[in-house]
Amino acid sequence: MIDSLNISVKKTSASRIGQLDFANIPFGKIYADHLFTASYIDGGWKTPEIVPYEDLRISPASPALHYGISVFEGLKAYKNDQGEVLVFRPDKNFERMNVSAERMCMPLIPEQLYFDGLNTLLDIDRDWVPSAQGTSLYIRPFLFSDDDYIGIRPSQNFRFMIITCPVGAYYAKPVKVKIETHYTRAAEGGSGFCKTGCNYGPAIYPAKLAQEKGYDQLLWTDGKEHRYIEESGTMNVMFIIDGKLITPSLGDSILDGITRDSVMALASDWGMDVEERKVEVNEVMSAIKEGRVSEVFGVGTAATIAQIELIGHEGTDYELPAVETREFSNKVLKVLDDIKYGRIEDKFGWMHTV
Ligand SMILES: *Cc1c(COP(=O)(O)O)cnc(C)c1O
Repeated sequence: MIDSLNISVKKTSASRIGQLDFANIPFGKIYADHLFTASYIDGGWKTPEIVPYEDLRISPASPALHYGISVFEGLKAYKNDQGEVLVFRPDKNFERMNVSAERMCMPLIPEQLYFDGLNTLLDIDRDWVPSAQGTSLYIRPFLFSDDDYIGIRPSQNFRFMIITCPVGAYYAKPVKVKIETHYTRAAEGGSGFCKTGCNYGPAIYPAKLAQEKGYDQLLWTDGKEHRYIEESGTMNVMFIIDGKLITPSLGDSILDGITRDSVMALASDWGMDVEERKVEVNEVMSAIKEGRVSEVFGVGTAATIAQIELIGHEGTDYELPAVETREFSNKVLKVLDDIKYGRIEDKFGWMHTV
């Protein structure tokens, strides 16, 4: 056992928790009382501290603002019936954050800094973790360049922070998606496998165009030929075709989702055939026309499962089977919830108690 880091803690003298209506939590608007912050200066991590949630001071020349030198993560904490706070697979987010950091020429975050920061922050703000069914505390770790230098080069100073915000029960309304065959989210050799700020800004415009045509989001295809399906909005995508669970295999242009990994682990555990491979648009469209596609859904931390009810392709809309008939995704959603809220045995060891 290593001792925990010496995190200095400055608590707020005016908690804002009274402003939160736990029966009606707005998404991403009210942040918990405290944040965790640490600075990387002169080649080392310094001054880990917890302070009241507040606005930042940052150099107007920071490469985070100009060149997107920033990476982030998203994970959730849940409260079980005993009032304990449990975090879903934080080790996976830790690993992935460092994969993103390396690609962006940023220093790796030491394991102890990440976990001590996370645990101490959640311990102090544990009252902010809502307990009603479907609610959780969204956790946003992020790392950004804190240089005061406008040149383009690897940065030297950074800040690592964690903020959190309570989120309400996410009613995942089934979505209509359009297969995108012009715009590209990520390309081979690019940074699509990272959660870095610069991947998300440019994806908003094509999504907005699709929304103007009545779709909710896009099914992204590969940047070279627009021939293979990659992701759905900011989620990974899965298909049940002929009873098999099929999802695009990982690569430079696909984010290694933790929900994706968890859903595949459950499917394998239940004895289902799971295929990770290239998924051709044409293959899916023919399978839909032949009635062999029983389920299509997005997977990600925000919604866990987002059912896809319709796919638009080259001007035609294809309806998918009714959501109530989707045995696999409905079951996986329920089992994942049961694991997260501690209602069934956590046989994969996914939950981390604060
Ligand atoms: C975060 C994210 C996902 C989902 O990852 P989870 O770890 O399951 O939340 C999928 N695709 C993109 C592009 C993402 O940013």
